Amino acid sequence: MNIHDLRKQITRDRIGSEMHDFISELYPICRSITGNGVRATLRRIRTHIPLEIREVPSGTKVFDWLIPNEWNIRDAYIKDSRGNKIIDFGRCNLHVLSYSTPVKRKIKLSELRKHLFSIPEKPDWIPYRTSYYSENWGFCMSHRQLESLTQEEYEVCIDSVLEPGYLSYGEYLIPGSSTDEVLISCHICHPSLCNDNLSGIALSTMLAKTLKALTLRYSYRFLLIPGTIGSIAWLCLNEKQVSKIKHGIVLANVGDEGITTYKKSRRGNSEVDRIFEHILRHSGTDYRIEDFSPYGYDERQYCSPAFDLPVGCLMRTPHDQFGEYHTSADNLDFIKPWSLGDSFLKCLSAVSVLETNQVYSNRSPKCEPQLGRRGLYRDLGGNVDKKAAEFAMLWVLNQSDATHSLLDIAERSGMHFDDIERAAHLLLSAGLLEESTDQVQEVQSHAGTK
Ligand SMILES: [Zn+2]
Repeated sequence: MNIHDLRKQITRDRIGSEMHDFISELYPICRSITGNGVRATLRRIRTHIPLEIREVPSGTKVFDWLIPNEWNIRDAYIKDSRGNKIIDFGRCNLHVLSYSTPVKRKIKLSELRKHLFSIPEKPDWIPYRTSYYSENWGFCMSHRQLESLTQEEYEVCIDSVLEPGYLSYGEYLIPGSSTDEVLISCHICHPSLCNDNLSGIALSTMLAKTLKALTLRYSYRFLLIPGTIGSIAWLCLNEKQVSKIKHGIVLANVGDEGITTYKKSRRGNSEVDRIFEHILRHSGTDYRIEDFSPYGYDERQYCSPAFDLPVGCLMRTPHDQFGEYHTSADNLDFIKPWSLGDSFLKCLSAVSVLETNQVYSNRSPKCEPQLGRRGLYRDLGGNVDKKAAEFAMLWVLNQSDATHSLLDIAERSGMHFDDIERAAHLLLSAGLLEESTDQVQEVQSHAGTK
């Protein structure tokens, strides 16, 4: 199947609710940057796509970092002096500071308070906190609950294990006709948080599941990795292959009700940057384009100066701009099937542009060829605006001089890429266009110098 036929079959509402259902399935799992929660998540993803689960041993040096010890947790609670569980990890995994070392003892409130985290400004929400690289233990709770604690002796228990093991991540390559790759990356290291981590996981998984049914030009590499340390490990262990990556996108926070945000790659003018800008401009919805900055998600690593990969980041509301970020309010109600489906379709449109963006040559470049006698209007079909379709053909004929890609033409004409691409397809079948030789390099060098 080709990508055009596929796009006609997918509806926003159906794919959006499929993604929301998958997120609901993954929501209860306690993930961290290592451990069985990540493996359990990857195994569930494997019911949709045949991804490889890779394991990197603790202590492995990856550039300036070391793979940390593996953390696993069975149970945790706080009991009051009457034996009532006032905090129960089994009810909400955000209650435990991620990477907490084991503890089991009785403790006074004054000492316990040094290990409690809450958000005074959001008194009903439980914060999400971590302590990956300095050993500590702690509990997170609503500020209202913290304020209600009385002076008594509490029993604290964290039944966790922090010892040498592995860092796990998922990798899936869909081969295309070219070994040039498109990287699609998301983080998988947060516990019960929906927009931040699960929305990106669902979008990556469903996109991979969709693309694997297609005949593709590029190869697509999906990485489902713990944030920061996962991308650093992958880049370090695959340094020789990194140059295959010609385009890439990090997916995070793609399910909230906010408008779509695209954050450009460090290069700022790469083809993927231009594609997302083009798609959003023609989306008919509000959107925001942000310049690159060295904070955010794994684009920080992919865009570090030695790699400088053309990798942007697709979000709805950026992490520092929604109050629910890293709290229990980033839950199943906070993300919407509509937004998830809309983010999916925007990614699929971007893939469609990547797959079909070509450089052509006009085979009849001396003045305009006579379009009417070639039956081109008849081939347009019933629902097409014939005037607009003619303009698109004139643009393609005029600009196809073996130096301009279809994306260049779409940008210059102000027309939608899909209309330009449809016109090129018609002109090609009428024998008025031919594919330009070395077009892949042409597209890239042109994009790089623009
Ligand atoms: Zn986060």
